[in-house]
Amino acid sequence: MDVQANLAELLQWYADVGVDEAIGDTPIDRTVLSKASVPEKAAVLPMLPATPVSASATATAAEPITGTIEALKEAATLAAGAKTIDDLKAALENFKGLTLKRTATQMVFADGPVTARVMIIGDAPGADEDRAGHPFVGATGQLLDKMLGAIGLSRETNVYMTSILNWRTPGNRAPSQAEIDLSLPFIQRHIELLNPAVIVCIGGSAAKILLATKEPISKLRGKWAEYKSIPVTTIFHPEFLLQSPSQKKVAWEDLQMIQGKLKELGILYI
Ligand code: URA
Repeated sequence: MDVQANLAELLQWYADVGVDEAIGDTPIDRTVLSKASVPEKAAVLPMLPATPVSASATATAAEPITGTIEALKEAATLAAGAKTIDDLKAALENFKGLTLKRTATQMVFADGPVTARVMIIGDAPGADEDRAGHPFVGATGQLLDKMLGAIGLSRETNVYMTSILNWRTPGNRAPSQAEIDLSLPFIQRHIELLNPAVIVCIGGSAAKILLATKEPISKLRGKWAEYKSIPVTTIFHPEFLLQSPSQKKVAWEDLQMIQGKLKELGILYI
């Protein structure tokens, strides 16, 4: 096989495993990288451990998690100190504990009016959102807007959208437990500040994190749970529906259930 064919195969392999974007504009020859040439910025950011840790993890000599524990404290303090949603956005921008910031293009915070009574929560922005800086854009966002529009909801007027993680993970890999733990104080405060009447999780991953459950989406959709007394339901992720259109009928039933709840609460009249 010639060199070009080899390279094409390598690139295809990268794409298949989710490595679909270059992180820096200038290539780094890591074979000649000396300590002195490591950018200073890397030294001030707390290092996340190679293995995920949860908030309850304890430090041992084998697990140098000091950076993460400090970052967890910083996340809790910054989130609690936010008095408005604008404060929270600024706090997230200033938060130095998440290494995802280094690989993402930009933060994806939220979309929609802060007066909305319906809060949509996804798990993490994808490549399109990372590029645009807004949640739920591209084909996935268009389908979500269509689904919401079918029951009288729109991000222009009465729906607020955000995600548990506000930065894309490299190659859209699943977030580590440490990344989730560092993001939780912010999404929890985000919910408190928005004070929605209803939360709709988009996809099972978001629901599992928010509700701290292991239940699969098949057990979470089509019914109501509670998060701090707020009714929460979960619908199929539009990305899944784009791949499995036969599930749209089920998604429609779930949307009608949400519409029924919003009418019951006096939020929708149609
Ligand atoms: N999934 C999310 O959780 N957020 C987005 O913005 C897009 C997809």
